Amino acid sequence: MNITHIEHIGIAVKSIEESIKYYENILGLKCYAVEEVKEQKVKTAFFMVGQTKIELLESTDSEGPIGKFIEKKGEGIHHLAFAVNGIENALTESENKGVQLIDKTPRKGAEGLDIAFLHPKSTGGVLTELCEKRDKA
Ligand code: ZN
Repeated sequence: MNITHIEHIGIAVKSIEESIKYYENILGLKCYAVEEVKEQKVKTAFFMVGQTKIELLESTDSEGPIGKFIEKKGEGIHHLAFAVNGIENALTESENKGVQLIDKTPRKGAEGLDIAFLHPKSTGGVLTELCEKRDKA
């Protein structure tokens, strides 16, 4: 597949409002967007670090994926997201090479990206997101 860079690192937090303080006051980053992704039952907050983003994820529902993650593992790194050219091809190629896919076809994520997840069973324990920005508006 054709990966161009690390698009973002997803971090599960209990409270975006609380966590933003660390990223802004200690690390000196600036939160440039807060967005709710209803389908994923999360609120997200974004910081730019070079061409890579930090994506904070707060659950809006304890039954959602981030709610369950925090209940099991607590706060911390949740997933790693690579920017790819040709996300469908990347998924097909992965599946042909025996990787277990969480999403067989891309769906819409935060910031209008097309995203799909690879199962951590097939990626050495790292929940891996592939994403592609196609509507360049
Ligand atoms: Zn993500």
